[in-house]
Amino acid sequence: MARRPAVFIDRDGTLTEEVGYVNHPSRLRLLPRSAAAVRRLNEAGIAAVVATNQAGIARGYFSEDLMRVVHARLVEALEDAGAHLDGLYVCPHHPTEGAPPFRADCDCRKPKPGLLQRAARDLDLDLGESTMVGDKASDLLVAPAVGARAVLVLTGYGQGEWEYRREHFSVTPDHVAADLLDAVDWVIGRIRTRVGGVWGEPEGPPIR
Ligand SMILES: [Mg+2]
Ligand SMILES: [Zn+2]
Repeated sequence: MARRPAVFIDRDGTLTEEVGYVNHPSRLRLLPRSAAAVRRLNEAGIAAVVATNQAGIARGYFSEDLMRVVHARLVEALEDAGAHLDGLYVCPHHPTEGAPPFRADCDCRKPKPGLLQRAARDLDLDLGESTMVGDKASDLLVAPAVGARAVLVLTGYGQGEWEYRREHFSVTPDHVAADLLDAVDWVIGRIRTRVGGVWGEPEGPPIR
């Protein structure tokens, strides 16, 4: 099968509510239309891949084990709504906080492109046909680094970023979306317009 496009989804403020550090599973809540958005990607044969910075691990605010529990809940909540993620990639690092191995000048903390590149290798993705969706200017910066499109959502920090900080953006979003579902509709519409079709059926259980 040809390499698939992906939508890379920031977690906090884009897929789930922005609540600060998620240091307990009870703090993670999907935004209202997130499951529908992921389901629509599944149906279109576009990979749905979460790419998230979780420097709270480097800072010692929560453990990797806690984060795994949180992410298992997230996957389960989406599956319950008939939506599946093709991948979930995390940067647990911070360049100056905490202690090694998490205090690291890594290549994966957004806006660096390491998470997207790793996902592309693992999942055989076409980065040039992919889109990064996030609620911060720093999420958008990842996109041109890998030849992808950038979409800002107005959930989470997005509305404040767009209303008060847009003159400071070094990457102009290709689209500004009300939320993740609106972003996904833009991506699908654009692909249909450009290539006159969508990719094959989604493949089997994604989260390993
Ligand atoms: Mg965010
Ligand atoms: Zn990292």
